[in-house]
Amino acid sequence: MGGKLKAAGEVGAGTAEAAENRILVFVRLRPMSRKEKEAGSRSCVKIVNKKEVYLTEYASENDYLRLKRVRGRHFCFDSAFPDSTTQAEVYCTSTADLVEGVLQGRNGTVFCYGATGAGKTYTMLGTMENPGVMVLAIKDLFSKVRQRSHDGNHSIQLSYLEIYNETVRDLLSPGRPLHLREDKQGTVAAGLTQYRAYSTDEVMKLLQQGNKNRTTEPTRVNETSSRSHAILQVVVEYRSMDGVNIVTRVGKLSLIDLAGSERALATDQRTLRSIEGANINRSLLALSSCINALVEGKKHIPYRNSKLTQLLKDSLGGSCNTVMIANISPSNLSFGETQNTLHWADRAKEIKTKALTTANEDVLNVPDSETDQAKLLLELQKE
Ligand code: ADP
Ligand code: MG
Repeated sequence: MGGKLKAAGEVGAGTAEAAENRILVFVRLRPMSRKEKEAGSRSCVKIVNKKEVYLTEYASENDYLRLKRVRGRHFCFDSAFPDSTTQAEVYCTSTADLVEGVLQGRNGTVFCYGATGAGKTYTMLGTMENPGVMVLAIKDLFSKVRQRSHDGNHSIQLSYLEIYNETVRDLLSPGRPLHLREDKQGTVAAGLTQYRAYSTDEVMKLLQQGNKNRTTEPTRVNETSSRSHAILQVVVEYRSMDGVNIVTRVGKLSLIDLAGSERALATDQRTLRSIEGANINRSLLALSSCINALVEGKKHIPYRNSKLTQLLKDSLGGSCNTVMIANISPSNLSFGETQNTLHWADRAKEIKTKALTTANEDVLNVPDSETDQAKLLLELQKE
């Protein structure tokens, strides 16, 4: 992990220079569920060498033996997490660097992408026993800020919102829909609760409560939140005195649990147009269009086409460190969805970002070695 994203120290002091980076893309395979086992499904995904995903279409053991690897396909990512990967390992590999970046004043975004049931909410929110990226990121932030308290003042504020059918709602204080507006921090939801958090337990409870407030589709009551996007934003503000000057830094971390991608996957503009108007998720479609435009290096990126892309304008491409975690099921019953998800994840690897850091930054301790990662892992696994 360390070193893949450019550290602030690599940018010349007193200037705002750009270093080219790209989105980091990870794939997480979840364990086979009981329901899938009972339905007689087989695994059609293998993780090889911690980086490769091998997808093969076969319905039975006989088919597999007959087809061998002929019909399979390999995809290669920054990391591929097998189903035994712990929440802390996922956090350390995918997100810990971004949290460090946020402390240095750089925005970071992590989004989980994949079909309903593929493990997005488990990865982002997790459970009380196995908290996910959202909670571990905040835990890590608290601990880093504590270690650096001698160095200046940090304040941590969080907000949690949902986009459902192009309506933005506050998940921490449900009520009327919120309007988006532009301000100096980018696009913001007017009136969104900013919660000052002090402990990890408190954050977990808050987020779980928030998740209960997510909209459930009336027609698919067992598939909660399949069409709603949940966005946690954590803003870290740092202030200190440098002689007579006040040094300030603001970094924003956006952690996003996207709606199920199953009904909005299209890989080219023609297909996108042909399914427009159907009952699909406009925000997810717009995200696909933005990813296509970013990959193709287009000048115009259609951020304004949906609430989600408006909110992510400063968090996709541009000067933000961006991570995508693609979640997949191992079951051959989800073969088509898994193939689409892997296809998208593969494409997202091509998005270039510019890691921009601004003047006035003194470089803090950037953990950049395997030893630091191992230490952090131990720290996070401690209760
Ligand atoms: P999604 O949010 O993508 O619709 P969920 O995160 O709700 O999917 O996952 C579906 C089910 O699978 C849940 O019961 C969840 O607890 C379980 N699950 C997902 N990923 C894992 C994992 N890595 N380990 C154990 N259980 C998981
Ligand atoms: Mg979910």
